[in-house]
Amino acid sequence: MGRAHVVAIPYPAQGHVIPMMELSQCLAKNGVRVTFVNTESNHHRVVEALPPTTEKLLRLVSVSDGLDCWEDRMDFAKSVEALGRVLPAELEALIRSINATQADAITCIITDVFMAEITQAYRNFDLKRAAFLPGAAALLALTTSADKLVADGVIDADGTPLQSDAIRLSPSMPEMNPNHLAWVCLPDLVGRKAIFQSIVKNNKSAKLAQYLICNSSEVLEPAALDFLHSCRPIGPLLASHRLAKQAGHFWLENPSCLTWLDHHPPSSVIYVAFGSFTLLDPAQFCELALGLELTGLPFLWVVRRDMTRDAADEAYPSGFEERGKIVEWAPQQQVLAHPAVACFVTHCGWNSTVESVSEGVPMVCWPYFADQFLNETYIVDRWEVGVRLEKGGDGIIGREEIKGKVEKVLGDGGYKKRVIELQEKTLASSVGGGSSHKNLCDFVDWIKED
Ligand code: UDP
Repeated sequence: MGRAHVVAIPYPAQGHVIPMMELSQCLAKNGVRVTFVNTESNHHRVVEALPPTTEKLLRLVSVSDGLDCWEDRMDFAKSVEALGRVLPAELEALIRSINATQADAITCIITDVFMAEITQAYRNFDLKRAAFLPGAAALLALTTSADKLVADGVIDADGTPLQSDAIRLSPSMPEMNPNHLAWVCLPDLVGRKAIFQSIVKNNKSAKLAQYLICNSSEVLEPAALDFLHSCRPIGPLLASHRLAKQAGHFWLENPSCLTWLDHHPPSSVIYVAFGSFTLLDPAQFCELALGLELTGLPFLWVVRRDMTRDAADEAYPSGFEERGKIVEWAPQQQVLAHPAVACFVTHCGWNSTVESVSEGVPMVCWPYFADQFLNETYIVDRWEVGVRLEKGGDGIIGREEIKGKVEKVLGDGGYKKRVIELQEKTLASSVGGGSSHKNLCDFVDWIKED
């Protein structure tokens, strides 16, 4: 038998591609050959954003996603439907062509947990099958409980909550507000139902996998991991832990913000970033700008061009940029690791959450949708390393609220102390002797086993 050869297939969104890339780089460093499969449009973006010095640890290839415009790709329901329709045949053709032409045939397939349909593509192949969850274990605990929540009358068959009482999957897991269930917090109702149906289907996919791993740690989520039994945490997966520093990003990182941070004293800068997907309406965007202005502190703010529907320029108060730096995409892990950063105003995406904890940065939570409210519960209620922003009566988070919460997280040393403690334990789990490190080694051994 030749060298172990993995095909890695992330769900085609930034927050899924980055951690799957981190995992793939870890496997490659451990002697496993990896073919990384992006959808065509993402593949082009990833290749264009690769730094020139990126080591060629993996082979990057692409398949069609069955969609032909950006709007459809941003529409979850359409995207999930199209992926289910075209990916099985696309992947089957890819695997056959690799096996016919390359010395190392594919021996293992790792798919994102949320892509059930493509398991069909490898039914006819003699392959090891693993699933990777790039989110919190608590998210999988929730989604794999969907059938039970329907049976218990907590939600209806479309996933709509039928009660207002908090949901607790096990006595030691965090409570969840039914209106904050991952599939309930989606912008449109049609998309919401489709996503819920897809989640229910995907539960079966997770069960079909022979190995289930997630980008988490026993330190962060003991109760959720206990609830799931079979999901092995191998995180945090961080770029700083590997050779090639950045790969898998859809935007070019702007490194000038690191030089800008170098000119600021320790713990003085507010870092503001909302990941790859969050949209802010113009009134909210304007209020955030005014809130940052009110704090009187320097800030580094990531403003993607597609974040505000082009309303950004009018929202900045005059002289605003004298105290702040605005970039379209930052080298986020390096920013969070910079001593000048005092706190992180975050949308609570799981990657951002884990990165902030891993760099010991307290958070001001601004969840937008999907699992971000669940992650906020961890940050605020469970780990107590951040604070929750509250909307006013007009549905907007006001400037005074933003100023007040930033001051709270910076003024009370307890947040920094707790996040440093959590950082130390979390990082210890991912190095030699730690539980995540051991799980990753076991996973590599399983992949390499004949
Ligand atoms: N990210 C980055 N630069 C930015 C903003 C985000 O590199 O300016 C990275 C961030 O480090 C994280 C990912 O993009 O790894 C975002 O994933 P997350 O789960 O936090 O949010 P999503 O984009 O899925 O909403």
